[in-house]
Amino acid sequence: MDELKDISPENVSADDERYMRMALREAEKAFDEGEIPIGCVVVKDGVVIGRGHNQVEMLKDATAHAEILAIGTASAKIENWRLEETTLYVTLEPCPMCAGAILNSRVSRVVYGSPDTRFGGCGTTVDVITGNALKREVKVTGGILADECLGLLKAFFQKMRLEKGDSGNKGVEPSAQL
Ligand SMILES: [Zn+2]
Repeated sequence: MDELKDISPENVSADDERYMRMALREAEKAFDEGEIPIGCVVVKDGVVIGRGHNQVEMLKDATAHAEILAIGTASAKIENWRLEETTLYVTLEPCPMCAGAILNSRVSRVVYGSPDTRFGGCGTTVDVITGNALKREVKVTGGILADECLGLLKAFFQKMRLEKGDSGNKGVEPSAQL
């Protein structure tokens, strides 16, 4: 099943970088709001039907990850919880919770930017997708604009450290994602 995470050219659509840039714009919104900068868009037939950025602090909700919010807006937009034939673009590898939501919502492909070496749920630390018990086939492509996606996260944590001092983190998990 290694081919599911293959980033060889034939598995990367020409539009992947374009949509990942849109996900990055979402991540920048999170950055500006003082949230860990992770952004997501959901695309169906070349149209963005859902978008979201991490809002855990603002909503005071541990489940308010970019992917969950984007899945929610996409489902509302097409008035269908089944997001078949969609691709979800997210700047950081989905965590196990979001990978589970991806399976439940029937997203057909996931494209992520940076791997998450701390809590990646699509193969880096655990793999919720490959060989899943629901027998759903979800293609996973990682590493699209990874440097930019990771760079934004690093800039955020650097800013937090400068503002709060090394010990203060306002509830942000310190190692968070890198
Ligand atoms: Zn998540």
